Amino acid sequence: MRRVYGPVPSRRFGLSLGVDLLPRKLCTCDCVYCQVGPTTECTLARRDFFPLDDVVSEVRAALTRGPRPEAITLSGSGEPTLYRSLGELIARLHGFGLPVVLLTKGVLLHDPQVLEAALTADVLKLSLDAPDEGTWRRVNRPAGGVAFDRWLRSVREAARRHRKARLEVMLIRGLNDDPGTLEALAGLLSGIDAEIDINTPVRPAPGRDVQPSLPATLEAAARLFGPRARVVAEAGTAPAAGGTSGAEEVLAVLSRRPCTAADLSTSLGLPLPRVKALLKEMEGKDLVEGKGKGRTRYYYARTS
Ligand code: SF4
Repeated sequence: MRRVYGPVPSRRFGLSLGVDLLPRKLCTCDCVYCQVGPTTECTLARRDFFPLDDVVSEVRAALTRGPRPEAITLSGSGEPTLYRSLGELIARLHGFGLPVVLLTKGVLLHDPQVLEAALTADVLKLSLDAPDEGTWRRVNRPAGGVAFDRWLRSVREAARRHRKARLEVMLIRGLNDDPGTLEALAGLLSGIDAEIDINTPVRPAPGRDVQPSLPATLEAAARLFGPRARVVAEAGTAPAAGGTSGAEEVLAVLSRRPCTAADLSTSLGLPLPRVKALLKEMEGKDLVEGKGKGRTRYYYARTS
């Protein structure tokens, strides 16, 4: 399995080359909205799941193949801070001259080594989906052994020390978007110095029955959270030129993130008719599955 995928359009960072440091599906959490699918091993044990040199070589190869991304994002099919050599990896990735974005749920940030490594990322994107232990356990379902208060302290600490920390709040209809929960979230967020992205799972999560929050709820949350908050929409960037991607690249993206044909066209720099032809062929071979219709038809890797 490739460790590097895309580049994919990201809501905040433009075209971003994804680096997936974990085997599927291992994570510190089992979030109800996870696009990758249910976590099969929920753990806090850090390891180097793949050799560091191999990951760096794959990034180098992807950058020479093009299209040129605007950032390198450590994300993928699980929590990237589980990768033990994260600090060294980020240092090596800086050598490619692109900002390194780290997406984390922050469950391991109480570990000073993890915190120091995370702080070296150019952009640190933290999550805060819940204002209390019960909601946290219902929405993010973290591995046992970390208490909500300790987690919250370390997220606050990371946001305080990083000059470009962002917070993402994922709202799910009926789970954490009622007025009381939003008020409580607003209270927590007011004490954290970071920009706030309000998001909702617009792509159906494989194997999960979660509903996106209504647009009016997202807007109400934005008003409540204050001027630093905004509702993030689906990314839309101009098609990149020069992509040489084919079925393998399409599969590498879909195995981490369900996409529409238009998403794939944008991220891989392929003409839309070519992407549609590839998807049709791959559906015929049972490699991908499409759900929905027209422009909102999302494709999933059959391994999802
Ligand atoms: S959303 Fe992220 S942190 Fe949550 S289960 Fe999926 S990969 Fe893990």
